[in-house]
Parts: sequence; C-alpha cells; structure tokens
Amino acid sequence: MKDLLEKATRAHTLTRTEIVSLLACSESQLLFQAADFVRKNYVGDGVYLRGLIEFSNYCKNDCFYCGLRRSNTQAQRYRLTPQQIIATAQQAAQYGYKTVVLQSGEDPQFDTDKMCHIIREIKKYDLALTLSIGEKTREEYAAYKQAGADRYLLRIETTDKALYEKLDPAMSWDNRVRCLNDLKELGYEVGSGSLVGLPGQTLESLADDLLFFKKLPVDMAGIGPFIPHPHTPLANEKTAGHFELSLKMMSLMRLLLPDINIPATTAMETLHPQGRLLALQCGANVVMPNVTQGEFRKKYELYPGKICTGESPEQCRGCIQAKIESIGRFVAPGKGFHGDFLKNK
Ligand code: SAH
Repeated sequence: MKDLLEKATRAHTLTRTEIVSLLACSESQLLFQAADFVRKNYVGDGVYLRGLIEFSNYCKNDCFYCGLRRSNTQAQRYRLTPQQIIATAQQAAQYGYKTVVLQSGEDPQFDTDKMCHIIREIKKYDLALTLSIGEKTREEYAAYKQAGADRYLLRIETTDKALYEKLDPAMSWDNRVRCLNDLKELGYEVGSGSLVGLPGQTLESLADDLLFFKKLPVDMAGIGPFIPHPHTPLANEKTAGHFELSLKMMSLMRLLLPDINIPATTAMETLHPQGRLLALQCGANVVMPNVTQGEFRKKYELYPGKICTGESPEQCRGCIQAKIESIGRFVAPGKGFHGDFLKNK
C-alpha cells in the first residue's frame, strides 16, 4: 500500500487494479494522509464556499434513488419565481459568497429564455455562476453559457452503464456522457461526480468512475454517499460503509486529479456529525452551504436527514466558517476557478 500511495502522490496515476486494492484496503489512514498532503500542495488551505440555491423540486425524471423523482407523490413540490431566485443570489453575494449554484430537478417550466434571464440578472452581482439543472440539449447549454453561466455540475452518478439504466430505465447513460462532453466543448468548468453505495455497485465500477473523471477531465467532482429515501424503490437499502468508502473515493480523486475542486458534500454530514470536516481532511477543498430560504430547504429532499433545514442562510454562513477555522483552514477569498491556487502561488 505504501508503494502505491507513494506512486500516486508523485505521479498522480494508478491503474484500475491499484485503485480497487486501495478502495478495499482496511487501513485507510495512510490514504487519507496522502490526499491531505496533495490537497495542501495543489489547492492550499483555503476552502471555497459556494452558495447553493435549490430553486425547484419538480422533476420529470424518475431515478430510483432520488426523493425528487416524479413518482414520489408524497413530495411537496415548489418552485421559486425568477425574482425570488435572483433576490436569493443577491443575498448570497451580501453574505460574502463569490459563487452561487442554481440547482433543481429537471423542471421544464424553466425554459431556456427563463433560465437565461435569471443567469443574466445574477451575473450583475459579480458572482461566478454554476448550474446544476440536469440534461439539456447542446443548444440550451450554449445559450446558458452565452448568458453568462461559468460552470455546470452534472454527476455521472455511476459509470456502470447497465446499473445507471437499471436505476432509471427511461434514461440513457450515453446521453449523460454526451452532455458532459458538450459542456466541456462549450468552455464550461465541468463538475461531475458519483453516488457511492448504490445497490449492485462494485469497487471496480467505482475505480472506473475515477478513471472516467481523469479522462474527461473534470474541473470538479463531488462524491456523495447514497442515502436511501423512504418514498423511493430503494427505501430498504442500507448505508453501512458508504461514509468510509466515500472518504476513500474523495482521497483517491485528490491523488489522481491533484488540482481540481472537490466538495465536502452535504450528504457526508447526514451520515456523520463531522462529515464535512472529515471530507476536508481527505482531499476536499469546497463546501456548498445552502442559501435557500425557509420551508423550501426541507422540501428539497433528495434524501432523508438533510442537515441544516431549520437554519437560516446567515446561520449556515457563520457556522461553516467557524467549522473550517476549527481545523486550521480558512474561507478562501476568490471565485475559486480550477487551478487558481497554483496560478497565484
Ligand atoms: N437534476 C440535477 C440535480 C440533481 S440533484 C441533475 O440531474 O444533475 C443533485 C444530486 O443529488 C444528484 O446528482 C445525485 O447524485 C444526488 N442524490 C440524489 N438522490 C440521492 C440520495 N438518495 N442519496 C444521496 N445523494 C442523492
């Protein structure tokens, strides 16, 4: 294991078999330390905050794992108006955020004109703007880019095509890859990522996820443990082991893609009270606090047990800064584009 980690720390490459053996290894501390070392050298001690606006939980898709799936009739659906979304972004800028992330289910009500209007208005606040609104046509992605969007998050969820399509029989894995390629070609900073612990997922397929991110290559990648939602077909699945495995995936991602942005995902903190801080010590350098207001925070329920649904955006901003500082890190000042730290070093 030591030799493998030494190689990965130096050359940032590992074969599929080597990745699998590190994912399977029970002594993860050395892996975590190597990731933390690489993180410090390539992206520093600064942690970028991205303000997350969850603007609609309507979704036309039916992914088996997701609480927003259209067949979940118990979900209380909401959508913010464009004015509300723009006002929330303005508030986020006032709290000191330099990036906002607009996320939603795939909600056809937000057509291209509406999205472009929202993007143009938000860009007036000198914010970097990330979209996370699912699969669109190349023309739609081009229009958002033209309107000012900087980044796009679209997790591949799993590179196991058969598993992906089993978890939503109406969706096409090839189309998701097409989306990621279009986004890259259009000049977005591209974020992807995967769910860890899906039923039927193997360590080999997780290794393939990492190699897929390296090949694209992504500018950002989020690893989230899968947490079963009670009103979905996967309600009875377990979460045992998903947290540790997610930390290993994050660490390996840092070793393989040393300078990318890696978020400490919210789902990590649902499974462990110190989940995001531990993730920040296993390769992560980004946190995405929720800036959505009031009741909507709870209604955007991808999975149960989501943290901070009773807090206000101001509380979240203060709380996360204190946590980051408690581990000797600091809130990084800039917009945090891929590679900024090395450029300014
Ligand atoms: N509609 C957008 C945004 C999806 S929600 C899109 O398709 O990209 C953001 C992420 O939540 C998803 O990419 C998925 O990885 C994650 N998610 C969904 N259900 C989850 C669950 N049960 N546990 C953990 N994460 C989940």
